[in-house]
Amino acid sequence: MKREKNGYVYLIGAGPGDPGLITVKGRECIGRSDVILYDYLAHPGLLEFARPGAELIYAGKIGGAHNREQGQINDMLVEKASAGKVVARLKGGDPFIFGRGGEECEVLADAGIPFEVVPGVTAGIGATAYAGIPLTHRDFTTSVTFVTGHESPGKEVSGIDWQSLGRGNGTLVFYMGMKNLPQIAQDLVSHGRPQETPVALVRWGTRPEQEVLVGTLADIGERARKAAFKAPAITVVGDVVRLRDKLRWFDSRPLFGTGILVTRATDQAGVFSRLLQGYGARVFECPTIAVKQPEDFSELDKAIRTVAAFDWVIFTSANGVNVFFQRLHHLELDSRALGPCRVAVVGPRTGESLAPYGIRPDLVPSGYHAEGVVEAFGRLEVGGKRALYPRGDRARDVIGPGLQKLGMTVVAPVAYRTVVPDSLPRDAVEALEERRIRCVTFTSSSAVSNLAALVGENRLLHLLEGVAVASIGPVTSSSCRDLGLRVDIEPRESTIEALTGEIVRYFSFRRE
Ligand code: SAH
Repeated sequence: MKREKNGYVYLIGAGPGDPGLITVKGRECIGRSDVILYDYLAHPGLLEFARPGAELIYAGKIGGAHNREQGQINDMLVEKASAGKVVARLKGGDPFIFGRGGEECEVLADAGIPFEVVPGVTAGIGATAYAGIPLTHRDFTTSVTFVTGHESPGKEVSGIDWQSLGRGNGTLVFYMGMKNLPQIAQDLVSHGRPQETPVALVRWGTRPEQEVLVGTLADIGERARKAAFKAPAITVVGDVVRLRDKLRWFDSRPLFGTGILVTRATDQAGVFSRLLQGYGARVFECPTIAVKQPEDFSELDKAIRTVAAFDWVIFTSANGVNVFFQRLHHLELDSRALGPCRVAVVGPRTGESLAPYGIRPDLVPSGYHAEGVVEAFGRLEVGGKRALYPRGDRARDVIGPGLQKLGMTVVAPVAYRTVVPDSLPRDAVEALEERRIRCVTFTSSSAVSNLAALVGENRLLHLLEGVAVASIGPVTSSSCRDLGLRVDIEPRESTIEALTGEIVRYFSFRRE
């Protein structure tokens, strides 16, 4: 095949599940590629590192039967690289551990296509670490063996040396062994491993869905059958499994596996989701608010041009901050245009969003809501002062009238509009329908009303039956109650940190 430009293939180990386990190099290579060919086991979140416009191809969709599929993947790699593309071949775990990465490289070598292999954390290492099982330990074992539990179909004589696996006490890790589990356990016993040797099955290791089942060689087959334990899972055999009782850390966190719905706007959801995930929650992002530009910017621009003539600028959201400074830059000004103007924010998070623009807030009220802003101003001498308040189109009528009462002049141009999005993400709705959500979170009244508008009020009440409702503060809570929802969780301080803390407390209490 004649090559037009220099194509290139990165064979990248995506790690076992937790997207944070990709290597720094792997992530860079994804960002550098024109085409990303990814596997079923590679976490979809990693595709976010792809550059805009990169072609994303799900390898599972190519072809049908297993072997044909591999042939078509090989062809696709050669075809794309021969067309001059930089291709990231993203494989679960490590590409050279039971991933047919060797075969893919052979094909590339034969076709004269240059490639690079970026190792990854293999499931045997990642899933065991997250299950709290050290693969080696001086007191228990001095070796570890990775074994396939699924030999190539049609093999008449096993290529696995059961004799040597049965001997000694080395840790064994079987990949792809779920179907043959009873046979594997039996073979090990008949070749010398004691019946009572501990065994752990780890399914979807390192993900919030991780499941672990522990037994012995004598009973693990039966236990797995009873629990309907399915692939993808690894099987760990050896005395090191006993350490899990003491060392488990991942699936013992307070929110582990708890399905939580985050209804914030996409650009704000991330911080909150990560906080919850840090406690082990399984987060479903379900943005109920879409942020759009105002019909026109003229009112905001006019105020920005004369911003130094205001005594105060007030921000009640990171959105307001970002739009304000984008417009400022658009008008070819920079933060110096604020001059002696003082800056007030509704809470610490909004305050932090000023940092990239080199601004520190002068006023952060103690109650993190609009009423708190008015109260804080009430304690200052503000009669006759002028305030600029770039706001969302649906902001409650609190700050403007409140400050006017204090004798201030308030200019409040619309900086952004919040609208109901066209639809909700399918996975989030399915999780609600399938009762996989145990807690729904609301961080604003519009999140409540928009969710009701999108799902339908009655259906929402039905879907949220038995689901804990967590609200950021009194205003949001009263919107929940208006709808007929009972609020189970409300922090004293209206921040997502405090809300997270309260959710953790609620579920820890329930677990005990
Ligand atoms: N190259 C991969 C393995 C591919 S073979 C790696 O290095 O991890 C597919 C098998 O890997 C599955 O059948 C299962 O045994 C194992 N596996 C992959 N991801 C896993 C995970 N997150 N948890 C448990 N087992 C996993």
